[in-house]
Amino acid sequence: KSRHPDISFPTDVTIWEWLLEESSKYCPMAKYPEQELAGFVDAITKERVSWKDVKEDATYISTTLVREYNLNPGDTVSLFSRNTIWYPVMLFAAMRVGGVVSGASPAYNVEEMTYALRTANAKFIATHPTSIDIAVEAARNAGISKKHIFLLEGRLEGYTTIKELIGKGKRYGDSDQVPYKKIPQGKKNGDICALLSFSSGTTGLPKAVMISHQNVIAQSLQTEPITPADHKKVLGVLPMFHITGLIHGMHFPLVVNAEVIMIPVFDMEVMLATITEYQIPEILVVPPILIRLVRDPIVDNYDLRCIKRIASGAAPVSEEILQLLKDKFPESGFKQGYGMTESCSCITAHPPWAYDYRNAHKVGTIVANTEVKVMKEDGTEADLGEPGEILARGPQVVMGYLNNEKATQETFDADGFLHTGDQGFVDGEGFITITDRIKELIKVKGIGVAPAELEDLLLGHAAVEDCAVLAILDERTGERPKAFVVVKQGYRADKVTGFDIIAYVEKNKVRYKWIKEIEFVEVIPKSPSGKILRRVLRNRAKMGEKGH
Ligand code: AMP
Repeated sequence: KSRHPDISFPTDVTIWEWLLEESSKYCPMAKYPEQELAGFVDAITKERVSWKDVKEDATYISTTLVREYNLNPGDTVSLFSRNTIWYPVMLFAAMRVGGVVSGASPAYNVEEMTYALRTANAKFIATHPTSIDIAVEAARNAGISKKHIFLLEGRLEGYTTIKELIGKGKRYGDSDQVPYKKIPQGKKNGDICALLSFSSGTTGLPKAVMISHQNVIAQSLQTEPITPADHKKVLGVLPMFHITGLIHGMHFPLVVNAEVIMIPVFDMEVMLATITEYQIPEILVVPPILIRLVRDPIVDNYDLRCIKRIASGAAPVSEEILQLLKDKFPESGFKQGYGMTESCSCITAHPPWAYDYRNAHKVGTIVANTEVKVMKEDGTEADLGEPGEILARGPQVVMGYLNNEKATQETFDADGFLHTGDQGFVDGEGFITITDRIKELIKVKGIGVAPAELEDLLLGHAAVEDCAVLAILDERTGERPKAFVVVKQGYRADKVTGFDIIAYVEKNKVRYKWIKEIEFVEVIPKSPSGKILRRVLRNRAKMGEKGH
């Protein structure tokens, strides 16, 4: 059980009411004078919206969405965009009137976006001019009319912009705005879905994870007691569609009135310049960015002494990188957060007294109101120091997968424990160390890639009889997919076929899912029930890595 004191979190308000309605007793905005309210600023253009602007604009947009576009509570708005200050405005607008928001990677191609729209049952898309072509085709495939595609930035003939939605809403006058949606009588905020994020969980294809209003509120309040008082400027470099950016780059900053400096597209120079310009004390990044911080010579051109803490999450960090970080940034502390989309971000995190490098390889201690159980393979609970699968229970553990009862039951126990598919142990000080990943998941630059998705695609290639995909280490991205392939009769397991298969994946999938390596095998090892024996292949891949 967490060693932090329990916190109480409200169960009778939506995220909107909790964060943005001054009339609610919880609203953090009400604690600050208007001129001191933080907000979102674009690191490049310097365009800015304060929290008050977010509230006003979102109110107008939501009125337009209800009055002119017939958005109903429970309807899903897909946010398909790079980071922009208008992302949270649209998100809060949809949520204000009971809409559900589903983030999609702006790197998706048409097939991936079509799948995301269909799985989340989206009715609207808010996108960026750089993603419009894919948005339009995917919308057509998913039966979403062009009228329901909005632009978060810029202008394009035939599409409604967010500024036009605001303008239309204003015309109704302040007293005619549609009222915000409250939690219905007899329900709690844990019963109502606010967000649909994608994760493949422990197995299979990506699924839409139902994140409730309670999950977001609880996770934000669990983060507050372990956040230092200087956390007033937040580096908005992680993508907003992923749970880490969504919580720690969008919702949590409002709780502590912190300004978010949004970086539209990752770029090392822009990031470094932003850190120095805004004197950001804590940078939350993913391991591939840590690698750039210690290896990229450009870093030496910047005075980064403002960084008091480097925070990492979403994927494992190697001991080697930790040592290099410690040498390069001797004045900075280090912390990690560990969790998954299904736990609405963190299950564990480093408490402020443990930012020295002594505990850096661990993922921190259990956050407030949360329990962790470590289960050994034989089904018994592990002792301290003994590794096993990590299970977690707490108010941040999500509702389940949309329209997928089977996967929900397999992942979430009846007694509320989430199966993480990660292996680790708890030590005597209450810290958790992750030792391995037992689920099917590849983490490329901190973003999940589902082996099943690539296996499905590969089986569609003329030369592939059978296949299995798993993670191998990669210096730059952390991990990348490797495919074991059995070729069909009449094809040769050679370089030509290998290149052809790699090119086929590159044509059909977004870059971060591209296959790094193919190994041809006679047979894919399977259990009697036909399940791929991934561990056998993993051991084989590991032996290959050692041999390189
Ligand atoms: P996602 O749902 O994309 O957030 O992916 C969750 C998974 O990422 C976890 O189940 C872990 O396998 C991995 N992960 C997240 N944070 C960490 C961490 N700090 N260290 C090691 N692995 C992590």
